Amino acid sequence: MELGSTVSAVRSNRVLVGDEVRPAVIVIKDGKIHQILSDGAFSGDAACEVLDVGDSVVMPGIVDCHVHVNEPGRTSWEGFWTATRAAAAGGVTTIVDMPLNSIPPTTTLANFHEKLREATGKCFVDTAFWGGVIPGNQLELQPMIQAGVAGFKCFLIHSGVDEFPHVTDCDLHAAMKQLQGTGSVLLFHAETDFVLENGCPHPFGVDPGLYSTFLQSRPDVMEIEAIRTVTELCLEFKVRCHIVHLSSAKPLKLIQEARQAGAPLTVETTHHYLSLCAEDIPAGATQFKCCPPIRGSINKEQLWSALKAGQIDMVVSDHSPCTPDLKKLDSGDFMQAWGGISSLQFGLPLFWTSASQRGFQLPDVVTLLSRRTAQLCRLDDRKGSLAPGYDADLVIWDPEREFEIKETSIHHKNKLTPYLGITLKGAVCATVVRGRLVYRDGSFWPEPLGKHLLVPQRTNQAQL
Ligand SMILES: [Zn+2]
Repeated sequence: MELGSTVSAVRSNRVLVGDEVRPAVIVIKDGKIHQILSDGAFSGDAACEVLDVGDSVVMPGIVDCHVHVNEPGRTSWEGFWTATRAAAAGGVTTIVDMPLNSIPPTTTLANFHEKLREATGKCFVDTAFWGGVIPGNQLELQPMIQAGVAGFKCFLIHSGVDEFPHVTDCDLHAAMKQLQGTGSVLLFHAETDFVLENGCPHPFGVDPGLYSTFLQSRPDVMEIEAIRTVTELCLEFKVRCHIVHLSSAKPLKLIQEARQAGAPLTVETTHHYLSLCAEDIPAGATQFKCCPPIRGSINKEQLWSALKAGQIDMVVSDHSPCTPDLKKLDSGDFMQAWGGISSLQFGLPLFWTSASQRGFQLPDVVTLLSRRTAQLCRLDDRKGSLAPGYDADLVIWDPEREFEIKETSIHHKNKLTPYLGITLKGAVCATVVRGRLVYRDGSFWPEPLGKHLLVPQRTNQAQL
């Protein structure tokens, strides 16, 4: 079957139907899953384009709801063309773009329209958009909801870029009042300036080329204090709140207590916090820098336990590239380097390589990487599940097959990544977006077929 073909049916000996892996045929009509039939029950006619993938696993495409595309304005860091090709190569059929690092940031209705214009004709997978909450823009929030943003993100600490300032309590109260009753969700970068206000974060004489110097400058308490603020707001306003990229396991208790008290609160972690640990990061290896920081191996195992216990809801990439100069590799200075890790293309195998060793099964992968992420951005009526009526977004992959990450096989724009040269388990063979074969074995259909996903308003407050 040729790339770009409209697929009428996908057949495999290993289709993930509900919690069961079994031989089945997924029948596709008008880009949607029409039926899922047992193998013998299917009798397509001769004109029918059946994609038979043998023993490869077929499951819903990954929905990565934390991706920094950076276009317009910082397209040299990453753009829609390259990011969505990387996504397609990694079995990611939907990305949700973060509102910052692009210029302008997605913080007004006009800026959202500009973002949509810039993304047009450049997306190889479906793309939705987060808006941003910054000081003073609260009256833009409802118009952006009506225009279809998936929700909003804010920072409780400097964001790294000046055009996306962080919010104060007063800004948050104003924003929460606008969001009440809309069903929308507010995402928090949950670190505070606690250390800056309570002591020197950069002890004199400490080597900035050592990872430990950077780690000590952003201790767990910065996340704990920020999450305390989030839980209080969430309980007070009953607006859906979500903590992005939880790095420390220490605030999990606070999150659990708030949920038990009725807070509509969810939390994600990222592939890097689950795959990497501070002890292994070499001096000067700034490709490992991100905020909050990668912490120690004990903390990493605590995150895995929390994931297994249902205390962490989902796993995302937080793909956040920049140009190589900003990573300061020549000096290896962790304190000066841009914080952000690129991994969009490798989320599924990164997760599976570690998760499969810890007793996670394929249905867990769908729950954590597709279904809950679709729920967060209210795309769960069409994305993230393999069932009739859903978009025919599929990842076709071999969970047992190992491969090495080589620079030549990386499709995002700036190839620097902490994962270069490592071997992962779980190779993506093909990706289907709304019934079209967009990627197969290293090749792409040249036409970007991805759509913009505008999230319809809901009157009820959907919760996980
Ligand atoms: Zn991010």
